[in-house]
Amino acid sequence: MRTLCIWIFLNFWFAGSLWAQSEVNYTLAFPNAVHHEAEVTAAFRNVKTPVLEVRMSRSSPGRYALHEFAKNVYNVKAVNGQGKPLSITRPNPHQWNVSNHDGTVKITYTLFGDRADGTYNGIDEQHAHLNMPATVMYASGFETSPVTVNFSIPAGKNWTIATQLKSVNETTFTAPDLQYLMDSPTELSNFVWHQWPVNSKGKTKTIRIALHHAGTEAEANHYTEATQRIVAQAQAVYGELPDYDYGTYTFIACYMPQAVGDGMEHRNSTIVTSTHPLATHSRDHLATVSHEYFHSWNVERIRPKSLEPFNYAEANMSGELWLAEGFTSYYGDLLLHRSKNSTLDEVLASFGNELNFVLNAPGKNYFSPVEMSMQAPFVDAAQSIDPVNRPNTYISYYTYGSVIALALDLELRQKFKNLTLDSYLQALWQAYGIPEKPYVLTDLQTTLASLTKNETFARNFFQEHVYGKTLADYKNPLTAAGLVLRKSQPNKASLGLVPLTFQDSQAVITNYTFVGSPLYQIGLDKQDVILSLDNQPIKSWEDLAAVLVKHQPADQITIAYKHLGESRKSIVTLIENPYWEIVTVEKAAGKPTKAQQTFRDSWLGSKL
Ligand SMILES: [Zn+2]
Ligand SMILES: [Zn+2]
Repeated sequence: MRTLCIWIFLNFWFAGSLWAQSEVNYTLAFPNAVHHEAEVTAAFRNVKTPVLEVRMSRSSPGRYALHEFAKNVYNVKAVNGQGKPLSITRPNPHQWNVSNHDGTVKITYTLFGDRADGTYNGIDEQHAHLNMPATVMYASGFETSPVTVNFSIPAGKNWTIATQLKSVNETTFTAPDLQYLMDSPTELSNFVWHQWPVNSKGKTKTIRIALHHAGTEAEANHYTEATQRIVAQAQAVYGELPDYDYGTYTFIACYMPQAVGDGMEHRNSTIVTSTHPLATHSRDHLATVSHEYFHSWNVERIRPKSLEPFNYAEANMSGELWLAEGFTSYYGDLLLHRSKNSTLDEVLASFGNELNFVLNAPGKNYFSPVEMSMQAPFVDAAQSIDPVNRPNTYISYYTYGSVIALALDLELRQKFKNLTLDSYLQALWQAYGIPEKPYVLTDLQTTLASLTKNETFARNFFQEHVYGKTLADYKNPLTAAGLVLRKSQPNKASLGLVPLTFQDSQAVITNYTFVGSPLYQIGLDKQDVILSLDNQPIKSWEDLAAVLVKHQPADQITIAYKHLGESRKSIVTLIENPYWEIVTVEKAAGKPTKAQQTFRDSWLGSKL
């Protein structure tokens, strides 16, 4: 990405002819789309090493586990510039070594893909939905070479192409280097384009949506109008749009039944997918749009050094995801509300659910938000067959970071005149986003200290809530906005949080019980079956509720259960229902003061 400016200049100089001479050329065709296959050719010219090392990526930007994309590649062959077959050896599972070439190596392979989302490939008769790390083989020594990609539209298909790659013509695109190519998901389908100009500091940018769906024009128009409002509110946070490469930002939306729910940020585009149509899930889809668009500042340009450059051969670990993802989650909710795409009750329910989760999660005693961020390679679409004790030891950096953002926003608004979390993001944008200077963790604290002119405040906040495991106070700060943090079912008896489900009229504990919860204390574990409580058989949620309603928190009742096939009896101590919620004082039978209403409006209201 750093070679971009030079590349734009060269492209201008050679009037677009450069693409034909690229050292790296890919062609993608889909003759067997019905069975989810693509045929890919990767051609490398001016190969300078005796052995060309070619790889499939093991990771994908914005997704932090290893995915081993080589597993979906077969029929790999290589020829030289004369079309003569070359021998291939395999030094490891994701690499092909090609020798005895004449300076040109052309590799062909079949690619299988049947998962349309933000990481993998979905190839079928309705679309070719491609994420480049899952698609292209790349070669050592060509990381900074300009790339040309040619797509062959299947015969009889009325497909067009949506991508952040630079267009040469309708089916040929270029990237300045490997990093930009890998960051450029591409959808080929019969989608609709919607686009509009946005003025930012005297420059006009184009924002466009490629929408692949089976819904109506009215649904598409509503989605576009709602997205326009989100874009405007996001712009208002920073005071400007990022300087998008080629002046354009593209939402690639695929809401077809075969797609899988996801959202993935990129430098000048995002890919947003779901199985569900706009007709029934418009608000969910807009929540993803809001989150992903905020990323075009936070993580794409306000970027942690730990992710730069992205390493396609290893897992990428970052201690900053509580900010990169967590603050983005907070703004996803906030911008959805500021843009009038969610109600006050809905945004408070989102904040409340996230806070409730963290307040109840035992994980906060094990790892700090920085350490939770570093676990992304184990949790972000990672797969393993041995069980992990995640219910007890883990809190998602999305959720954890989001409640840190809530705390910091409220504290800044209360303790410092005219300062808000928007001001903090603006300060990060000025220091690291605009110059595209990757930040390290300590920069985040330094920026907060210089913004507030209060080093002690910044140090304490980071020591306690970012490096440490102490939760901020939420009750008092929420009061300033006329909001109440309260138990959602006060004084109601409960077994606490239990991963419980009913299978064939049996109450089965489906996961590890939470440390400190009533059932954990008396030794119930995953796969145990609760037979009775207070001598009443428990075969349904109704049976459970009927027992609990007769008791108070702290009551001790008998429990019969099966553990590893053995019948056991014990006494369990009930607790108060642990769920928290955030509601308005109006709901709590009060009325906001003028100061509370002003605080709330300034925080949650439109910035336009
Ligand atoms: Zn699609
Ligand atoms: Zn995100």
